[in-house]
Amino acid sequence: MRVAAACNRLLALPGATVREVSSGPAQITVTVALRRRRLACADCSYSSRARYDTRTMDSRWRHLDLGRWRLVIKANLRRIVCPTHGVRTEGVPSARAESGFTRDFEDLVAWLATRMDKSAVRRLVRVAWQTVGATCQRVVADELGPGRLDGLSEVGIDEVSWRKGHRDLTLVTDHRSGKIVWGSEGKDTATCDRFFADLGEQRSAQLTAISTDMGPAFLKSLAKPAHAPRATVCTDPSHVVALATDALGQVRRQVWDQLRAVGPDKAKTFKGARWVLLKRPGRLSEAQAATLRKLRRQGGAAWRAYGLKEALREVFAGDLTPSQTTELLDRWCVKAARSRLEPSVTLAGTIRKHRDGILAAIRLGINNARVEALNNKVRLITRRAYGFHSAQAALALVMLACGPITLRLPHEQTHVRPHSA
Ligand SMILES: [Zn+2]
Repeated sequence: MRVAAACNRLLALPGATVREVSSGPAQITVTVALRRRRLACADCSYSSRARYDTRTMDSRWRHLDLGRWRLVIKANLRRIVCPTHGVRTEGVPSARAESGFTRDFEDLVAWLATRMDKSAVRRLVRVAWQTVGATCQRVVADELGPGRLDGLSEVGIDEVSWRKGHRDLTLVTDHRSGKIVWGSEGKDTATCDRFFADLGEQRSAQLTAISTDMGPAFLKSLAKPAHAPRATVCTDPSHVVALATDALGQVRRQVWDQLRAVGPDKAKTFKGARWVLLKRPGRLSEAQAATLRKLRRQGGAAWRAYGLKEALREVFAGDLTPSQTTELLDRWCVKAARSRLEPSVTLAGTIRKHRDGILAAIRLGINNARVEALNNKVRLITRRAYGFHSAQAALALVMLACGPITLRLPHEQTHVRPHSA
């Protein structure tokens, strides 16, 4: 194979001629010239033989490392007038528009960001975490297909915080595929309205079920006439269980405060109880199981609240028929209402208020285990996004990890890239 052809393969830049290779202590720079006559717009499929002017733009892209060296490709690009996008620097098949990296480099970074922790990614690819965020945004903009909102029937609308201090994202999940198909910054009624605007009336009318939390913001949007007129609105059971966990947390804190008022020695016996109470009994370590037995012997409010939380989790475990679930849920409400534990009494009231929605979710088989598994994945990935400065970057990472995108590493790419002919 000729050297120039080999370099072209390596750079994934068809139709380029290598003019110069220079190497420094940490970087190899390959200067190429494009041979093709036609100029292509970087943002659409428009191409033309006409240049805008004789000026050339000095462009450079970082490519996949060559051994221990950074590899940078340089080229002088021409300018084109696209009828849609105006005067632009011509696009090249090997890089996305406005990017200082090649596609191969960006695809690798996006793949790593969904699978590896922040410091490992930064150390391996030697770019700032903010740059990783911007890269994720470019890859998502490029890879997310417009058809992802087609044919939806059962969806879940949920919120997740991507940074401390009320930085929230609203995410829409396709319950059938288990993928997140839409997302936006914010968590209010207007955010939810934006989803329906993107969906349009026709696709909105095809929705048969929508699961959501019990907060008023989304419910207000769902109540609007053009928004999913045929859909049954369900309450996601995972939110019910989450509220029971919150109620237990409140009781535990009350008990802790009372014990501390009695004396620090008394409070010590309650130490470590927090995690023991919140964890599922099957997942406790031996020491934690011993703490749990101690709490049971002590009895009292915390133990009763714990019993209520676990009983509610059992109701939604997914192994009961809808009629059994209904019966157990109603019985649970009676028990919680009589518990004399204020947070549990309040929760019983909330569940009674949303009873129809909760039971609709059970009847329609909106799979709680699957929703929870996805929620856990989203939580894990949003924690990684805490280092990003923008909600768009955080959302891009969520879509890369949980959306309908198949990320491929450079050597796995099979599709023909735009303008590659
Ligand atoms: Zn264009």
